[in-house]
Amino acid sequence: MAYLRMQDLDLDGRRVLIREDFNVPMADGAVTSDKRIVAALPTIQQALGKGAAVILMSHLGRPVEGEYDEQYSLAPVAASLSTHLGQKVQLVQDWLGGVEVKPGEVILCQNVRFNPGEKANDEALARRMAALCDVFVMDAFGTAHRAQASTEGVGHYAPIACAGPLLAGELDALKLALEDPQRPLLAIVGGSKVSTKLSVLETLLDRTDQLIVGGGIANTFIAATGHEVGQSLYEPDLIDAAQRLVRLAHERGGNIPIPVDVVVAKSFSADASASVRPVDAVGEDELILDIGPLTAANYAEIIWGAGTVLWNGPVGVFEFENFAGGTRTVAEAIEKSRAFSIAGGGDTLAAIDQFDVAGGISYISTGGGAFLEFVEGKTLPAVAMLEQRGRTEN
Ligand code: ADP
Ligand code: MG
Repeated sequence: MAYLRMQDLDLDGRRVLIREDFNVPMADGAVTSDKRIVAALPTIQQALGKGAAVILMSHLGRPVEGEYDEQYSLAPVAASLSTHLGQKVQLVQDWLGGVEVKPGEVILCQNVRFNPGEKANDEALARRMAALCDVFVMDAFGTAHRAQASTEGVGHYAPIACAGPLLAGELDALKLALEDPQRPLLAIVGGSKVSTKLSVLETLLDRTDQLIVGGGIANTFIAATGHEVGQSLYEPDLIDAAQRLVRLAHERGGNIPIPVDVVVAKSFSADASASVRPVDAVGEDELILDIGPLTAANYAEIIWGAGTVLWNGPVGVFEFENFAGGTRTVAEAIEKSRAFSIAGGGDTLAAIDQFDVAGGISYISTGGGAFLEFVEGKTLPAVAMLEQRGRTEN
């Protein structure tokens, strides 16, 4: 379904309110990674180029609603934006009653989550946000799976609501990969818990030609095949679910490969010494912290044979060097593969940075939760709103 796109609209002299994702990491009152800010610049510059008066809004962290808390102030973001844009970006503390901004200027509204009703998508709050603008631009993919006042509600009441280039680009890339993918389509799902990703595993089994698991998720599958997993992170309650998924894969003539070897330790720590074991030789006092080298090599083979690769979740505790090998091998295999590759997820992005493989990944999704919900085929509330508005405006 179609939504309006910012690049197609006349913004000359208009007040343009852009929902950004400036939820950036901070330390000591300074931005420590400005990736999300840099990603937003082309949209802001495009709006300025079209003659707009630009009003930016974003959340940062999880402050208590209704209470100002310096720690969650967007002041450092305003400073970073000013530097990048080469023009002053003023932070507006109280903005719900109206803001002053002229064409060619950019202002940043203080953290949307300081406003009571933001998370509950309060209509009165959404209407006050909408009243600030002539055009609302949703450009924060990472928040598109949340129906909140600044992501979804506001779009219903703004005179015009459209998708920004960053959001639209993300949706286009994900659609391309999922609707008519280059086959075989491979999904790699790692990370800590099956429970948070069970429904995505089921959907992926349906949609993909091959599913491989790693991390805490693989541990649950290892336990489901009857092997000892010792003190590993795994979910006993989900063994049945894992067995069912393995059966389903077999019924479809495929499989979910179980690691043949693993890297274990006696404690969960950066300096724990690592041993490689066959998967059926894990001690009761050991923790599986990574897939083993043979397994990683098998996974790399599968990756090289794929036409499209979707990746969410590290396959081991990559934050500890001794247990980073599996994730490094997988990341480098994706980097070198000719497949169209898409990766998303907070820790997955950290791993991509750590192993410096971003250049070889076709598309890196900025959203974790939103990426997974999109992959599952769920409609993202903010996108549904844009589609609805696209129909009524045209
Ligand atoms: P993402 O944020 O990319 O969606 P998750 O949040 O689901 O990924 O999982 C990432 C975390 O999973 C990492 O911090 C990593 O250390 C952890 N992890 C991976 N494998 C294991 C394991 N075998 N045991 C414990 N934790 C693991
Ligand atoms: Mg995570």
